[in-house]
Amino acid sequence: MATALVYEERCLAHDNGSMVLDPVAASWLDVPHAEGAARVARAHAVLERSGVAGRLERLAARPAEPGELLLVHGADHVGRMRRACERREQAWVGPGARVGADSWEPALLAAGGAVAALEWVLGAPGRRAYALLRPPGHHASAEEAMGFCIFNNVAVAAARARQLGLARVAIVDWDVHHGNGTEDVFAADPSVLFVSLHQDDFYPQGRGRVGDRGRDEGLGATVNVPLPPGSGDEVYLRAVDQVVVPALDAFAPELVLISAGQDAAASDPLGRMSVTSEGFRAMTDRLCAWAAGNCEGRVLAVQEGGYSVDHMPFCVLATVEALAGLEPALAADPIELDVPEGLREIEIAAIESARQAAGLAAG
Ligand SMILES: [Zn+2]
Repeated sequence: MATALVYEERCLAHDNGSMVLDPVAASWLDVPHAEGAARVARAHAVLERSGVAGRLERLAARPAEPGELLLVHGADHVGRMRRACERREQAWVGPGARVGADSWEPALLAAGGAVAALEWVLGAPGRRAYALLRPPGHHASAEEAMGFCIFNNVAVAAARARQLGLARVAIVDWDVHHGNGTEDVFAADPSVLFVSLHQDDFYPQGRGRVGDRGRDEGLGATVNVPLPPGSGDEVYLRAVDQVVVPALDAFAPELVLISAGQDAAASDPLGRMSVTSEGFRAMTDRLCAWAAGNCEGRVLAVQEGGYSVDHMPFCVLATVEALAGLEPALAADPIELDVPEGLREIEIAAIESARQAAGLAAG
């Protein structure tokens, strides 16, 4: 089993500005944007210092080719993003999405790096990879940047996999926010299964409801699992066992892509969930086990959100260790987390509702 890591320092140059929108207030508070360079840089440092990175193949990111972006995005969107970046100043390019003076190269590298990782994974059976890049992608639709996302990196990788001849591809999105951009890109496409575990009616509001199942020929190839705020490891693993894995069984993808956001972590400043690093490890283990038995082991995880700079790196570590089949470098989460135990009725009901809406048999 070979596992690769794509990390690219040039992605650190993308600057979202400040989370504080009032410019006067922002000038009083010197705190970087949540989707800042520190998150992936620190995750990479933890992978290096723990010795895990040294046991992985290292792949270089490369800028996405125009033709690769156009597999997902309209030429208008690509042109608009390029022109906004060429102005080389902080600018809004969509709801909740900004570019800074040096954002164009990172945006191309985040998408192209995901494609480079995909092409490596498809190069031989049993290959897995993690693309630790930014900006993230899953809120970006064909024609709109949104929610810190410029191009939809995981969607570009999925579309490229289809172009390379795979008949069916699955995207499992466990970022705490709904992957509305990815859902929109593939809503009518029966060849791409999109399964999202997310905080119920959180961001974007009104998206990711259990009844949203795709449209036209793609009807049924979208599966939404909205979960109550506070959901922790047991809830997520139950959702994986009772909805995600049965959906994969029914769809029979030839590749599993993961939209790997760690903002469902108990520590996250943006999410309201309670997942620990062990939860991310266990979810990754289950998807890798499914892939090993059903699609030659092919799994590619693409970085989405995850904003706690002292916990997100350890959640990435656990995910990468699971991908690589490595023993944990740490016995437990190294920071104190106050997480619930057991399952609440509301959580069991949410999973059951999603399972029934997706037409999946009881596990
Ligand atoms: Zn997110």
